[in-house]
Amino acid sequence: MSEILDGKALAKKVRKELKIEVERLKEKHIYPTLAVIMVGDDSGSQVYVRNKSRACEKAGIEFEEYLYDADITEQELLETIDVLNKDKNIHGILLQSPVPKHININKAFRRISPEKDVDGFNPINVGNLCIGEDCFISCTPYGIIKLLEEYNIETEGKEAVILGRSNIVGKPMIQCLLNKNCTVTVCHSKTKDIDKVISKADIVISAIGKPKFVKKEMVKPGATVIDVGINRLEDGTIVGDVDYEEVSKVAGYITPVPGGVGPMTIAMLLNNVVKATKDINKQ
Ligand code: NAP
Repeated sequence: MSEILDGKALAKKVRKELKIEVERLKEKHIYPTLAVIMVGDDSGSQVYVRNKSRACEKAGIEFEEYLYDADITEQELLETIDVLNKDKNIHGILLQSPVPKHININKAFRRISPEKDVDGFNPINVGNLCIGEDCFISCTPYGIIKLLEEYNIETEGKEAVILGRSNIVGKPMIQCLLNKNCTVTVCHSKTKDIDKVISKADIVISAIGKPKFVKKEMVKPGATVIDVGINRLEDGTIVGDVDYEEVSKVAGYITPVPGGVGPMTIAMLLNNVVKATKDINKQ
């Protein structure tokens, strides 16, 4: 049986450390503050924003919500971002996706000041990650790297296979694993013989949003399997992209869903807000 990579426990530890750091900042009258912009009433987004708000509250981070109807114009949204960029009391800005189709989300991400871009989606941060400069790293890949480090999982020279090439997970994950000296392969919906590609991996990271897609037969015995997927089945159960019951019989390490990558994503968001606050205030 695999060893479980307990994202919930590690996230708790990270959050505890951050709370101390937040208290230290508050003693200097610096109040870490995250502004979250949400457009429309997507039910999934509402849950994510609520979770982020609770996590901020527990860590002592101020949380400001900016909610807009789905018919807000792109220009109005960009102007809101401009106001938050200039506001000295705001340290982190996050635009919750998805946004309505008439808004170009990349244009909005680009408008967020790189110094406040705690999601790491501004191309300046994406580029800095690529060239190895200090930057904000997208929270999910960053959380995965922290999990691998916590469990001393060897990455140097290892074959890593990422399933999914989204801008928020798959692509930044490539760079994070390259920085850890992995040999990285990325799969997507057009990849041929995906089973074969997965089977050579020492580290598999699945972020495709397909319930139980990764089967036991695809996984090399002893491999580390990281499941990013969050999929709701018809009966309401949440499962990952990995057939956990079966794959955990062969994998060396595995993340559960829930309780694996999800809590680490939120912990890294808090981490990035604290980093932004410290950088802005030269602490
Ligand atoms: P996304 O934008 O939904 O894109 C999915 C990616 O998977 C695409 O690159 C797509 O390929 C690829 N794909 C789809 N079906 C495939 C298949 N059968 N074989 C191989 N590749 C396939 O991705 P995302 O936003 O990164 O989300 C992925 C999953 O992670 C979702 O379940 C999401 O809810 C979850 N998620 C979890 C967290 C967390 O904190 N735990 C954070 C973010 C996302 P193409 O590019 O060719 O279309």
